[in-house]
Amino acid sequence: THSQDTMTEKFRDGLTKTRDSFTSKMNDLVARYRTVDEEFFEELEELLIQADVGVDTVMELVDELKMEVKRQNIKDTKDIRGVISEKLVDIYQGEHEVDPSLAIQQEGLTVILFVGVNGVGKTTTIGKLAHQLKNDGKKVLLAAGDTFRAGAIEQLEVWGSRAGVDVIKQGEGSDPAAVMFDAVQAAKARQVDVLICDTAGRLQNKVNLMKELEKVKRVIEREVPGAPHEVLLALDATTGQNALTQARMFKEVTNVSGIVLTKLDGTAKGGIVLAIKRELDIPVKFVGLGEKMDDLQPFDAEKYVYGLFA
Ligand code: GDP
Repeated sequence: THSQDTMTEKFRDGLTKTRDSFTSKMNDLVARYRTVDEEFFEELEELLIQADVGVDTVMELVDELKMEVKRQNIKDTKDIRGVISEKLVDIYQGEHEVDPSLAIQQEGLTVILFVGVNGVGKTTTIGKLAHQLKNDGKKVLLAAGDTFRAGAIEQLEVWGSRAGVDVIKQGEGSDPAAVMFDAVQAAKARQVDVLICDTAGRLQNKVNLMKELEKVKRVIEREVPGAPHEVLLALDATTGQNALTQARMFKEVTNVSGIVLTKLDGTAKGGIVLAIKRELDIPVKFVGLGEKMDDLQPFDAEKYVYGLFA
């Protein structure tokens, strides 16, 4: 369909930096080596590590590549691209294929909780997702749960009005759990389909962060059976290995069900997607490919990897 075509185009355009960097480096490598040998693998390893694929993931990939090259008796470096893509997708998927779709309930209220450090693009992503869900015919409501950062509530309201979606809020400094309680009641009264909740992103104090997230979650769990249906962690792709550190931290304090990797348009090191999934076993559900309302795309590992090596 037309919309699928534009989606693919957008996905491709948003990844120009990573793709150009990968493609030109691979072309260069293939041109210089011609035959697959130990030195070729060493340089390939370096190229992938530089692209933020992650050392462990790269080691595993190269081991598997070597076996596959032997098995298929591949000699020419030209013939190895397809195998690299195949193995990267395998590594991304792991033992069971990952379903990147959101757990939107067929009936009743779906609650999505957003977590992440300040500045990674959490508010922007909430706005984009609200817009997308609304376009899909859902009734959406936002909860301004970041009562800590100055301006966070207003910023969410700006996105809410852009998307044409209401925001439930209290004053700055108020109890986020109380905001969630209000928001859930409002969502029920208004027969909302999806409630998206913002939370504070201060990292300085892990214990406080954990307590706050637990309290917020407890309110949601108590008021809506089975909720939160998704806990989405926003990570900034341009921060590379730092994003991995943040992901590990959040995984320790709460049950993260999916990752939104923002600002993937702003980096040439898109390999971080693979590292995150491999090292944390949390699927990437969306990628942010720009600052505009429709710059959020569902993540498709196969399209992504084959796009890089095309
Ligand atoms: P928050 O503090 O996590 O809520 O972060 P914001 O939503 O305020 O975003 C921080 C900055 O990142 C803003 O300038 C956004 O426009 C920008 N941003 C967010 N997502 C993306 C993205 O996918 N691509 C680009 N290029 N910029 C983004």
